[in-house]
Amino acid sequence: MEIRINKEFCKGCGFCIEYCPKKVYELSDELNGKGYRIPSIARPEDCSECGLCDLYCPEFAIILSKTA
Ligand code: SF4
Ligand code: SF4
Repeated sequence: MEIRINKEFCKGCGFCIEYCPKKVYELSDELNGKGYRIPSIARPEDCSECGLCDLYCPEFAIILSKTA
């Protein structure tokens, strides 16, 4: 699974960090243009492709795409 975050959509709510069962995300020190702390994709190799992060992100900032 390829995971991307549209940084400028992110509101820093942390839902993706909270709900990912595999702890793929971590809070980073990086701020987007609106001043929100965005998550980093710390452990993409652990992703189980459950889709919860995409489902729970209220800002539609997470883009999941299947890799072959
Ligand atoms: S698809 Fe599931 S396991 Fe993968 S990053 Fe999102 S919540 Fe975590
Ligand atoms: S759930 Fe979406 S808006 Fe919230 S921190 Fe994660 S990427 Fe940002």
